[in-house]
Amino acid sequence: MCQQPLPPTGVHRTRGPQETEALAARLAEALEPGDVVLIAGELGAGKTTFVRGACRALGVTGRVTSPTFTIGQRYAGRVPVSHLDLYRLADLGAEDPALLADYVGPERIAFVEWPEVAERAGEDGLGRIAARVRLEHRGGDERELTIALGDGA
Ligand code: ADP
Ligand code: MG
Repeated sequence: MCQQPLPPTGVHRTRGPQETEALAARLAEALEPGDVVLIAGELGAGKTTFVRGACRALGVTGRVTSPTFTIGQRYAGRVPVSHLDLYRLADLGAEDPALLADYVGPERIAFVEWPEVAERAGEDGLGRIAARVRLEHRGGDERELTIALGDGA
């Protein structure tokens, strides 16, 4: 894996959605099947924008929007990609434990918005956490993104 580009860890400022998408694309290039990326931040912080940028870099060509009637969607990129949004799940523990199984697995890369919901429930079905991303509003179109590798909070 020494050919892989270094992921953009650390703290970044973006000044618009395109910059956030570009940063996400750089992270995506360092990912491999089986990886799960958790994306935290308030409503409108840019989580879905980030996922869109990552998906484009992974070869997903269709619409990338937050799932509304399901917890997730699956896309066909160069590798299979999943996009979960757990916002409306008050408590994942109360749901079917197999719920995540359709979206996470060794052959696919998964992006999870609102991962706090799964973590509150002590849910370990998320699989191998490759990276954590946090987005914060910094006024107007500015956002601060913090990217950390692995499961470290
Ligand atoms: P979330 O999924 O966190 O609720 P979205 O990605 O759906 O957020 O929405 C973010 C909104 O903020 C979009 O309308 C996007 O165009 C806008 N935006 C403005 N500046 C930025 C930025 N720097 N990064 C990401 N999104 C931005
Ligand atoms: Mg969203």
